[in-house]
Amino acid sequence: MERDTLIFDLIGQEHNRQKEGIELIASENFVSEQVMQAMGSCLTNKYAEGYPGKRYYGGCQIVDQTEQLAIDRACELFGAEYANVQPHSGAQANAAVFYACMKPGDTFLGLDLAHGGHLSHGSPVNLSGNLYNPIPYHVNEETGLVDYDEVEALALEHKPKMIVAGASAYSRDWDFVRLREIADKVGCLLMADIAHPAGLIAKGLLSNPIPYVHIATTTTHKTLRGPRGGLILVGKDFPNPWGQTTPKGEIKMMSQVLDFAVFPGQQGGPLEHVIAAKAVAFGEALTDSYKDYAIQMQKNAKVMAEEFIKLGYKVVSNGTDNHSMLVDLRSKFPEITGKKVENVLVKADITINKNMVPFDTRSPFATSGIRVGTPAITTRGLKETEMPIIVAMIDEVISNIDNEDVIASVKTRVNELMTERPMFAW
Ligand code: PLP
Repeated sequence: MERDTLIFDLIGQEHNRQKEGIELIASENFVSEQVMQAMGSCLTNKYAEGYPGKRYYGGCQIVDQTEQLAIDRACELFGAEYANVQPHSGAQANAAVFYACMKPGDTFLGLDLAHGGHLSHGSPVNLSGNLYNPIPYHVNEETGLVDYDEVEALALEHKPKMIVAGASAYSRDWDFVRLREIADKVGCLLMADIAHPAGLIAKGLLSNPIPYVHIATTTTHKTLRGPRGGLILVGKDFPNPWGQTTPKGEIKMMSQVLDFAVFPGQQGGPLEHVIAAKAVAFGEALTDSYKDYAIQMQKNAKVMAEEFIKLGYKVVSNGTDNHSMLVDLRSKFPEITGKKVENVLVKADITINKNMVPFDTRSPFATSGIRVGTPAITTRGLKETEMPIIVAMIDEVISNIDNEDVIASVKTRVNELMTERPMFAW
């Protein structure tokens, strides 16, 4: 077979783009060599419908062990009793939990997409918003913090089947204790989607929802620094509240209901190469070196938010507890959209994404904000001393948004800062 140079040339170009630029997309990261190797391994050749020890295909004796290691390490990392490592993505993990816990038309509460929520938490363009009946809750306009009083009022009014905590663009910690009180008051399930802060939670740097929620989901590729994928966790397993029974007439535990919702409910064969890579990443996340990484990622974000504020930008909620922040451009450049900033920063090899800010006056296609995060640059080895330099370069580009000479000069400095750095400095 001839080598597919067309594709491999493009992969080479993408490698250079990643190496030479400053990656500030809050949901992206760079994986270690061994995570990459596991993903590119022969495990991709194997069909393994089912779960370790209960497969629908022969020859699963090895992938049973890699999948079991992924499960055991995920449980150890988060202090959970149950993990399903098969969801192909975060959105699919969420869809599986919804499928397990609700019937079409059932009501649930989720953070509004325009206030930082994720589209799989009830957006009308996603099946979560079509199949079920989402009621959005919001952040407070003044503080930028989740309005837990509103969550409680909405829960009492609508009697949801489930409350979904979690966000894609929210820089503060969550009050899972309060949310569990609300869920118990109305007798509904509480789910936390920790896709963004999972790595910080795993190392005790943010509140761990596992003791308080019924079910948690996460992606494995953001702060957690693993392969692209999803994960479902349960802290302490419990009998399913709907009285579903096994063929033997025994009451099913929630773990069994969730497993069934992932396969055969939602997916066919698991991606065993990705599951092995998840196991490697979870193993890395269990180390002290990963804790140092997580501390640095959080420190970098804090300094970065302070620098934006010093330069006259409004940072939603006035700072960050985690790895990310939402910068409201209107405080300094009311006429410039997030879309324009995203496009122009790309020319300077700085990657961020446009993002609506709470109570935005612009559409999601234009936006008044940008979302910035530190997982990827921290993996590249950047420290808090470099954060003011990066924020100053972003400010220089935005302040000179139509000046190609300034943009080219920033790009040169970005490339000087990044090109010689390892992709993975830990
Ligand atoms: N949940 C949250 C909170 C997210 O931020 C994301 C992705 O950004 C997802 C779920 C979906 O993950 P995926 O892109 O793997 O489907």
